[in-house]
Amino acid sequence: MSRPVVFSGIQPTGAIHIGNYFGAIKQWVAGQDDAENIFCLVDMHALTVPQEPEALRGQILETATVLLAAGIDPAKSRLFVQSHVREHGELAWYLSCVASMGQMQRMTQFKEKSESQRGEVRVGLFTYPILMAADILLYRTTQVPVGDDQRQHIELTRDLAQRFNATYGEAFVLPEPAIPKAGARIMGLDDPTKKMSKSAPGSYHAVRVLDSPDVIKKTVMAAQTDSGRDVRADPARPGVTNLLAIYAAATGTTIEAAEAHFADARGYGDVKKELVDILVETLRPLRERYAELSAVPGTVHALLAQGARAVRPTARDTVDTVKRAMGAG
Ligand code: ATP
Ligand code: MG
Repeated sequence: MSRPVVFSGIQPTGAIHIGNYFGAIKQWVAGQDDAENIFCLVDMHALTVPQEPEALRGQILETATVLLAAGIDPAKSRLFVQSHVREHGELAWYLSCVASMGQMQRMTQFKEKSESQRGEVRVGLFTYPILMAADILLYRTTQVPVGDDQRQHIELTRDLAQRFNATYGEAFVLPEPAIPKAGARIMGLDDPTKKMSKSAPGSYHAVRVLDSPDVIKKTVMAAQTDSGRDVRADPARPGVTNLLAIYAAATGTTIEAAEAHFADARGYGDVKKELVDILVETLRPLRERYAELSAVPGTVHALLAQGARAVRPTARDTVDTVKRAMGAG
């Protein structure tokens, strides 16, 4: 058997939060020895909602630096910017000629994201899952470590690959999602009924991985909880359930183990205080390493260029296969 190929991406849409970290990045770092790893800063996806050009450019570099600080090792993993490898856009076009409107209209994330857009909703926001399918299929990916919100998009990727293979002959490998047991869906601290998101407004919405201990404390202590005292995971109590989920993800245990740990807690305040300490310690090495790396931004730029050069031949080969199979060119 050949080695697994792991691919995953992150949008440079804002400060990386603990949902991104526990849902995705922690898995990327942990699996680096077991596979060929490709991690992508998906700047073309970020453009599906309005972005300020200068800010976007800065966020690409910041996001790359956070990933390196979190432990992505350039000796083991490729890290690059999506728009540096033009085959992503190219394959997305061919796949959009395979995808059906009905299939695309079932994507729930489009419904959620388009509702939060004031003014016009861009076509790219609707077709974005096709570009994501292209990202994954270009590299003959076998595993996609992501948070739970991406499950439906991976399913679409598999459907498109299957449909293509059945129509034009075997070109694509079918990828599997890899979704962690704890931390796959961290909710907003200001509203535990909504997924924690980079692009959501509000400073109390999320703990960001670069937050100072002081800010982490303020944000966690302000987290919305209900009026009960019982520290139990329960769909009727999304606030405390979310705190338990974060605790479980940060300590590498389960929600049940987190409940048992807090069995004697006197209320939610106890849980929050312990969670602050754990998050401050979990994120400390990342914060320190980030400060070191951002002192030499040239290194990160060079690494990104090197990453793009390394992945491009495989991407080109896949697009050429697809074009040939479809009769283009
Ligand atoms: P945006 O609001 O711009 O979409 P985001 O916070 O959703 O930002 P993405 O860049 O879209 O982040 O996703 C990067 C990775 O983080 C994906 O694998 C996604 O599944 C995961 N992820 C995002 N939010 C969460 C969350 N709240 N809990 C767990 N994983 C998450
Ligand atoms: Mg997202």
